[in-house]
Amino acid sequence: MKNREVSQHLYQLSELLELQAENKYKVVAYQKAARSIESLKEDVEHVCREGLLQDIPGVGKAIAEKIEEYLRTGRIKAFDDILSRTPKGLTELLQLSGMGPKTIAMLHEKLNITSIDDLEKAAKEHRIRRLPRMGPTSEKNILKAIERHRMRSTRIPLYVAEPIVDEVLSRLKELDGLGNITAGGSYRRRKETVGDIDILATSANPADLISAFARMPMVEEVLGKGPTKATVIVRDNVQVDLRIVEPRSYGTVLQYFTGSKDHNVKLRNVALDKGYSLSEYSLKRLDDGQELFYPREEEVYAALDMDHIPPEIREDTGEIEAALDHRLPKLLDLKDIRGDLHIHSTWADGRSSVDELTRTAKRLGYEYIAICDHSPSIGLTGGLSPERLEQKIDVIAAINDGREGITVLSGTEVDIRADGTLDYSDDLLARCDVVVASLHMAQQQKERIITGRLISAIENRNVDIIAHPTGRIIGKREPYEMDMAAVLEAAARNGTAMEINAHPNRLDLNDRWARTAKGIGIKLSIDSDAHQAAHMTAMRYGVDVARRGWLEKGDVLNAMGLQELLRWLSRL
Ligand SMILES: [Zn+2]
Ligand SMILES: [Zn+2]
Repeated sequence: MKNREVSQHLYQLSELLELQAENKYKVVAYQKAARSIESLKEDVEHVCREGLLQDIPGVGKAIAEKIEEYLRTGRIKAFDDILSRTPKGLTELLQLSGMGPKTIAMLHEKLNITSIDDLEKAAKEHRIRRLPRMGPTSEKNILKAIERHRMRSTRIPLYVAEPIVDEVLSRLKELDGLGNITAGGSYRRRKETVGDIDILATSANPADLISAFARMPMVEEVLGKGPTKATVIVRDNVQVDLRIVEPRSYGTVLQYFTGSKDHNVKLRNVALDKGYSLSEYSLKRLDDGQELFYPREEEVYAALDMDHIPPEIREDTGEIEAALDHRLPKLLDLKDIRGDLHIHSTWADGRSSVDELTRTAKRLGYEYIAICDHSPSIGLTGGLSPERLEQKIDVIAAINDGREGITVLSGTEVDIRADGTLDYSDDLLARCDVVVASLHMAQQQKERIITGRLISAIENRNVDIIAHPTGRIIGKREPYEMDMAAVLEAAARNGTAMEINAHPNRLDLNDRWARTAKGIGIKLSIDSDAHQAAHMTAMRYGVDVARRGWLEKGDVLNAMGLQELLRWLSRL
């Protein structure tokens, strides 16, 4: 049923009208219609098809037309129009708790406030208390609401969310009567950042589950608690929602709460084409109104004649069509990874010896690793002089002679200097098994120059992989100004691999670029870039990115067995 969707759109439309200080009657009319549809027992789409929208209390001709437009096209033109006329900051102010459109319209008119920053400044300067129906307490509440909003609107990196989810699940899994429990949302889709964490569960003792959830030691504040739903704030200001679901609907609810929104919109349309209406709780046959319940998510997709879509690619970028045609990719799996081609050691600024790294690699089930320390121009961190690199190559060769089961490759992470030349001679690079090239200095150069530096490294025959190609650090540093299309084109032409740096702050290339690279035949190398043995397990974050980028085993350099890899490395 789209009742909730439709009523939300009408509410929003009334808010926008009110923000624009439009005719009061019009505002009230939309609110009234929104309320009626919210509490409507029948399916609004059904009512619309019967031509009976105007029988709904509060729905006149104009509003009926808008509802029909929404159901037909998914949009309301009047809504888009008014949204485009409203200053962006004003709609953002609506997200602050306690701020209604009427107050915002007044603040806009009297103090010319158009953004959260304006509002904060006015409250701090005590300009708000002089307005009608306002006072010192309103200023204090406004500042509190702003603070909470800012806390909530920052998405947290996946690697921060992960230990929280692990802890919640392991605590709740011990409880009696628990059935299923999973984290949904962007967490399940393994997006690089996560908003709130949504946990879905089934339980024979919902009350126990809710109270155990609210009493977890990590909980800092309980925002809400009901019979089947609770919301808490845990460490790092992360919001965690728990929802208890009826077992028979678990599959449908999990599908719904995994998203993405775009994926779900498309999926509902597929369902409609096949004669069903898909809701959060069930799939309803339109011809006889029969409701179908699915305890398992696979069954929801199967009921629509689709293959089960891995959560990582549910972004409406072709996965629904592929699942209908039964041609989904067989996504890369962590266990397909055979080695790690970018690891730092105590030869330079790494904290683990080659020996420790090798032992960890064996534990991870790898066949090979490449020790790639920095080159000299990186400066402070003590990159290897050419002489030391020669020495390292000899030492590693000797180690390999006596070692069973795993091959250690000599490598380097050679710096691409500001002028585009590499930090070692071609002769020395030719002696390395693996050459990873990357840019650490002069990152502020103009687009043309950065692009040129990367392309000249790609064109050097000794270079195998370009590491962290965009230089971004999630939440801290934007990518270099560069022409990625030109860089990828050069990599494709020269047979150079691109890295998916698996360091959880980098994830560089990201999912979209990785997919583009795959599309033009570039091999991707997923590397931990670990500076100590314990960080080699970051590989899985790189695999997440690869999966989100639709990568299969055959697209990934370090999913090759050793012999195949050696052949690739000696390519001309
Ligand atoms: Zn680096
Ligand atoms: Zn590195």
